[in-house]
Amino acid sequence: FNVPAPKNEPIKSYAPNSSEKAALKAALADARSKQIDIPMYIGSEEIMTDEKYAVTPPHDHQHVLGYYSLGDASHVQKAIEAALGAREKWANLSWEHRASIFLKAADLLAGPYRAEINAATMLGQSKNAYQAEIDSACEMIDFLRFNVYYASQIYKEQPQSSDGIWNRLEHRPLEGFVFALTPFNFTAIAGNLPTSAALMGNVCVWKPALTQVYAANVLMKVFKEAGIPDGVINLIYVDGPVVGDVIFSHPDFAGIHFTGSTKVFQHIWKTIGDNLPRYKSFPRIVGETGGKDFVVAHSSADAKAVAVGLVRGAFEYQGQKCSAASRAYLPSNLWESIKNYMVEDLATIKMGGTEDFSNFVNAVIDEKSFDKIATYIANAKNDPRVTVIAGGNCDKSKGYFVEPTVLLTTDPNYTTMCEEIFGPVLTIYVYEPEKFEETLALVDATSPYALTGSIFAQDRYAIELASKKLVNAAGNFYINDKPTGAVVGQQPFGGARASGTNDKAGSILNLLRWVSPRTIKETF
Ligand code: GLU
Repeated sequence: FNVPAPKNEPIKSYAPNSSEKAALKAALADARSKQIDIPMYIGSEEIMTDEKYAVTPPHDHQHVLGYYSLGDASHVQKAIEAALGAREKWANLSWEHRASIFLKAADLLAGPYRAEINAATMLGQSKNAYQAEIDSACEMIDFLRFNVYYASQIYKEQPQSSDGIWNRLEHRPLEGFVFALTPFNFTAIAGNLPTSAALMGNVCVWKPALTQVYAANVLMKVFKEAGIPDGVINLIYVDGPVVGDVIFSHPDFAGIHFTGSTKVFQHIWKTIGDNLPRYKSFPRIVGETGGKDFVVAHSSADAKAVAVGLVRGAFEYQGQKCSAASRAYLPSNLWESIKNYMVEDLATIKMGGTEDFSNFVNAVIDEKSFDKIATYIANAKNDPRVTVIAGGNCDKSKGYFVEPTVLLTTDPNYTTMCEEIFGPVLTIYVYEPEKFEETLALVDATSPYALTGSIFAQDRYAIELASKKLVNAAGNFYINDKPTGAVVGQQPFGGARASGTNDKAGSILNLLRWVSPRTIKETF
């Protein structure tokens, strides 16, 4: 049957006196007033262990929101068994019944659970209300609804037949289980990685980042309420290396759906390679990894648009997006005015906890991340090739706060122009306008990543030149816009080179990775 193309979930405004704002405030107050126990979900069981870890808001690390139970290798094994036990019924359920579950989950998130999932993301991951709304509400809902639509396209696609011959294509799920390893920075990605594979009939073991369990727990409650059968998605909290040992040595391991660092993904790929003889099938490896995303402005660009793109692209969610603008190449004729706009804008930005809706910048995710970012900034301050244009202060006494920091460097290969920092640090290199083409070559060569990037220009020839010269430098390329904020159904998201397998989250390409088609030819 046909599924109509969905519309993107509208972003709510959270205006003063709006009902959504009142609901969100109430959900935040409720979450703060209690301490919850967060279990693992394996098969029909909710499992607690004696090894409990506190969940605290990154912006207020003395406040305990609850405790999650850490599991061990036996829980990973149990989760695999629960998944494999659920596989036959799930794989054979007609796809529209699977689809119904995820459409219901989308409706639950759009309505009754919207405030709770946003509050969990705001408190657990330190996102402001807008960043939570576009992630854990809108993008998560869009992933669920658009994936159902794309799946309907896949299932209806059939090969040609002729007189006396009927050819069919059956889109079977993979034979085994899929492992979803999900990041802290987007609740929607955490939810999409297991659900997209499950929609196509696969059973999953889901291990979120241990800094994201608070919102993952709400998602799992929603999936359960929507009717996902026991064992189809099993949510476990176990340290990475322990999970890896059990998962990657299992003969029924059929694929990994991953978002995280390039280093971890490389290690996983190698481990899978080493274990290949053990597996029934060649596992599917789908991963979105790091980025060192560029913004290039041409001498014809609108200086104010560049400044706005940089501030939003580099500092929304504290730069903790794989897509964040982190290196900019600006022409000397525009540099002063771009700088002035940025410095003026940054002076008005407030930093603090997520419960105060006027804070644009909140805390970075944890102490490890804070220390890493602070070290990059400290080194930059002491380097003669670098001038600090804005920010530069860090304070972890109450929360892990790093000021939005703009660095100017005379060396286009300076460390912070090349390495992914995953924090609110933007490095700028100023070039002479006549060196535009050389600068594009520099952009292409400077970093191993190829996730997102932007060109700002009014001159159409410059836009075309950038688009051609940077053809392999970004999987998502933006013209006169910031390099973040891809929308499901509009800008399929993903990158190549060291940024991943470019299987475009929230697209038909991605869903095709989770099926193993059988071709049937029948002769009459
Ligand atoms: N899709 C997000 C964006 O376009 C980034 C996802 C990520 O950080 O992994 O901003």
